[in-house]
Amino acid sequence: MSKEANFENALAFAADLIRIPGLPGEEGDVARRVREEMEALGLEEIRVDDAGNVIGVARGRGDAPAALLNSHMDVVAEGDHDEWEVPPFSGEVRDGFLHGRGAMDIKGPLALQTYAAASMIGQAPGDVIVAHTVLEERGGLGMKHLLESGSVAPGVVVIGEATHGDVCIGHRGRAEVEVAITGLAGHASVPARAHNALDLLGDVLAAIRDLAEDQPSDPILGASSLIATMVDVLPESRNVIPDSAVVTIDWRILPGSDDEMLENRVRDAISARIPETPEGLTWEVRMAIERQRTYTGLVEDRNLLTPGFLMSADDPMILAAAEAVGRREGQGPAVIRPWKFATDGGWSCGVHGIPTVGFAPGEERFAHTNRERMDVEEARWGFERYPLLIAAVQKALDE
Ligand SMILES: [Zn+2]
Repeated sequence: MSKEANFENALAFAADLIRIPGLPGEEGDVARRVREEMEALGLEEIRVDDAGNVIGVARGRGDAPAALLNSHMDVVAEGDHDEWEVPPFSGEVRDGFLHGRGAMDIKGPLALQTYAAASMIGQAPGDVIVAHTVLEERGGLGMKHLLESGSVAPGVVVIGEATHGDVCIGHRGRAEVEVAITGLAGHASVPARAHNALDLLGDVLAAIRDLAEDQPSDPILGASSLIATMVDVLPESRNVIPDSAVVTIDWRILPGSDDEMLENRVRDAISARIPETPEGLTWEVRMAIERQRTYTGLVEDRNLLTPGFLMSADDPMILAAAEAVGRREGQGPAVIRPWKFATDGGWSCGVHGIPTVGFAPGEERFAHTNRERMDVEEARWGFERYPLLIAAVQKALDE
């Protein structure tokens, strides 16, 4: 006999998950707990893949395209515990809110999605795959791996990042690009024997500003934007002329941008400012790379590019989702809008072209703060709407 897939049990599961910390790359204990709950709820084909993502399937009654419900298992660091009004790992319900790190980003929605899927066993128009991923807060290695592995083949993806009850259809992506200037180090007392990497810094920064003034714009997502955020100089000594200066650029990108395109744009802007590189100095543009390790031991040197995506607001699947969800207060379909922040939807839709939509309770302004919380009544409403949303998007895709 499976555990009953009702809201009270979902909320208790969310509180339990909050009590299990799990920074990016340290989701093992959370994953074990998620797997245990999937088993108790009667999901099938429960498995943990190489990256540590946990996957289970709620069998539908028909053969409509499978819907994949996705939340992530990692949370951002909680910071100073004294700064929290309610302790970050208490999972306490107080004044009508579930409190703690992950309450709305994203353990609350993770629990609601898992339970909504379980509540539709034998009833959904098609299979409902539940796949909760790792390392979302570090750019989405888990989701990237899940989709590349081919172990799931959804017709639609539903992302559980906070929408406050709206239907979200996309967001900008993010990339980190570096400009590395190289020269020859030397004693600061004998400048003639060295080539100072800092000599090109002014022009490089000016080129980045030139490029920032010339960014493409999208009517829904707004303009892409970039800014220099860091300069690393080596050797780190006040009396040595440095041979290395690396400028980091934070770039909020529109869907469809790739490594090569971004690198080329920076190269062109720098070439315009530095038509002839002075002797003894070189510069190169490259994507920033970070070595990431999953709790299962998978290691990947990842380009720091998280793609954006955008679904059409007129897409029949999106309209069906908004209609099914409705407005929490007032009449008519749910508001359709983009998110301000990036999600794993960039991988599913932006890279793999799978129709993707976002729906979850929770207010963006509480994410990553020491006031993180989820309104219990809003969560109850969201839980009730979730099966309607899943059925609607599956039917829309089946037509
Ligand atoms: Zn999140």
